[in-house]
Amino acid sequence: MNDFLSEKLSKSFYRWEFTVSETAARRSIANTPSLKEWDNLKALCDTCLEPARTALGALRINSGYRCSALNTAIGGAPNSQHIYGQAADVIPMHGTLVDLFEWLHSNVPFDQLIWEFGSWVHISHVKESEQRHQTLIAYKKNGRTLYMPITDEQVSSLGEARPVWHLESTVIGGNGEDNRTSDPNNTRKS
Ligand SMILES: [Zn+2]
Repeated sequence: MNDFLSEKLSKSFYRWEFTVSETAARRSIANTPSLKEWDNLKALCDTCLEPARTALGALRINSGYRCSALNTAIGGAPNSQHIYGQAADVIPMHGTLVDLFEWLHSNVPFDQLIWEFGSWVHISHVKESEQRHQTLIAYKKNGRTLYMPITDEQVSSLGEARPVWHLESTVIGGNGEDNRTSDPNNTRKS
């Protein structure tokens, strides 16, 4: 690992945490953010991840930046915010995924917050822009990953045995998260 990647990007997060990928290593993909993409990752840290780290303890970055080649290699959505350094997939090292999701939902300026199959939380932030403040769940249908907006009430039911969402209601497509089940980085369960 080079010296640059060993530096802190923010108070608690190192640069390498946002670039490391088993798929990239296996396929010899460099996965190197531009300065602009580093700026975006730093904004994501400062606005969303550091506050969560302070409140909830250590967080594991399951997937951060993805260059186009890596994003394609793992079957990511073509317009994934991971490509721009605007998104990270996060797992709490302490507490539950539900706690992390609810805390982020209530406390930080996110663009998209996605409940990803109960395995990780996707959060994005767009630097110096309006945040869409979309809260979504990802689910599978006919082998495709689809995204559905959920309400505040549904967010607070995530930890229950029978959450109150209904998968046949309005579905948004295209701009959501991506199907990354082929990536060994993302098979980890919370
Ligand atoms: Zn993601």
